[in-house]
Amino acid sequence: MSEALSEPRRIVIIGAGPAGVGAAMGARAQDAAAEITLLSEENCEPYEKPPLSKAVLTGKAAAHDAPIAGPKGIAGHGVTIRHNTRVSTIDRGPRAVVASTGERIPYDALVLATGARNRLLPMFPLGQPGIYYLRNHEEAVALKAHLDRAESVVVIGGGLIGLEVAASAAELGRKVTVIEVAPRILNRVADEETSAFVHARHVEHGVDIRLGASIAKRDGHSLVLASGERIEADLFVVGIGAVPDDALAAAAGLDVKEGIIVDEQCRTSDPAIFAAGDATRFPGPHGPVRLENWRHAQEQGDVAGRNAAGASVAYGSAPSFWSEQYDLYIQGVGWQLAQPARRARRARENGAPLNFELDSNHLTYALGINAQRDMSAIRRLIERKIPVDPADLVDPAKPLAGLLKPKA
Ligand SMILES: Cc1cc2nc3c(=O)[nH]c(=O)nc-3n(C[C@H](O)[C@H](O)[C@H](O)COP(=O)(O)OP(=O)(O)OC[C@H]3O[C@@H](n4cnc5c(N)ncnc54)[C@H](O)[C@@H]3O)c2cc1C
Repeated sequence: MSEALSEPRRIVIIGAGPAGVGAAMGARAQDAAAEITLLSEENCEPYEKPPLSKAVLTGKAAAHDAPIAGPKGIAGHGVTIRHNTRVSTIDRGPRAVVASTGERIPYDALVLATGARNRLLPMFPLGQPGIYYLRNHEEAVALKAHLDRAESVVVIGGGLIGLEVAASAAELGRKVTVIEVAPRILNRVADEETSAFVHARHVEHGVDIRLGASIAKRDGHSLVLASGERIEADLFVVGIGAVPDDALAAAAGLDVKEGIIVDEQCRTSDPAIFAAGDATRFPGPHGPVRLENWRHAQEQGDVAGRNAAGASVAYGSAPSFWSEQYDLYIQGVGWQLAQPARRARRARENGAPLNFELDSNHLTYALGINAQRDMSAIRRLIERKIPVDPADLVDPAKPLAGLLKPKA
């Protein structure tokens, strides 16, 4: 891409989640003169998704209370947002995207921030009465309206979003059953101790969690488990994960493999096209990886936007996620390995887990509950690759922030 542009650089971004908004802001910070256009298939100011399964369902906040770009909105940052604009094709030769209305929008650099779609369970078809999936504002509003008048709900999937919905429904006083096919909840993201701790808190709130349970069939408002047991509910919420929304990229002939393949500068196989967020697969320190969390989307979006505007910066933040369920703030930082070389546990006064994974004497991943203060030191230990003595990590008398200074 030429750096000596006589006309303002036209940067087009598809998708207005945190990756798309991060890209727009990053591009603006890099190039004050660029024409930046954010294409959103929704009809509203870009909003944060994390509250949808928490404060929005419990009625403590509305979906639009948390605009991603802050109170000025994205237009206040010199970005043109086009609502109700779903892109159907990328015409890579002449560098234009085509909206579903047929309108062509030309670009010099394009950023794909199309996110992820809900993984669907065929027995629970999207759009049928009493069946809910949760990914956007419209789905959250519909689910909340039904929850407000329901007595019972079955949540299918004991992952982060399913459990957040279960916690919100329990807080509203609903009878909640969670169906999880794995032998424990949070199987994918948490160690056994953390799973058990969160499980116990749900049980305290009256949630009935069925582990190792598979669904044989659904019959209107009831489902039948493989064990033969029938469970009735006013509504069902399916939270069984997400799949990257990479169809547009694949149709345009970009390299795609369960996610849009990008390099460390967020470039796709076409040097004029960048991608960021849930939709991508990118080079992590232990091989290509795909993440689904807010911080990754926002930070990778920023890097993609800067590079689309002419910079050459690499994306290298340690990933992190959080989840809020009742009074539990669950936080993970770092790179989770299938087989970590070593595990360690720090005893804490509040009894909540704070567990570590190490690769020889480097911290690679940590998962804690209500450990926000320690997590910022942990993030720095991981990102700066500071060697740690496992004995110091597990010693509650040694503040983790003290480990940031190399030993004399
Ligand atoms: C209910 C819920 C709760 C969550 N809670 C947490 C949490 O507590 N902590 C955490 O770390 N993460 C959480 N996440 C995950 C986090 O929100 C996502 O990782 C993040 O939103 C991904 O950002 P993204 O920009 O890549 O994609 P998205 O936010 O999915 O945005 C992609 C956007 O692109 C649009 N789009 C797609 N295709 C097109 C097209 N062809 N044309 C135009 N627009 C298009 C979509 O409509 C969508 O708005 C949560 C997610 C959900 C759904």
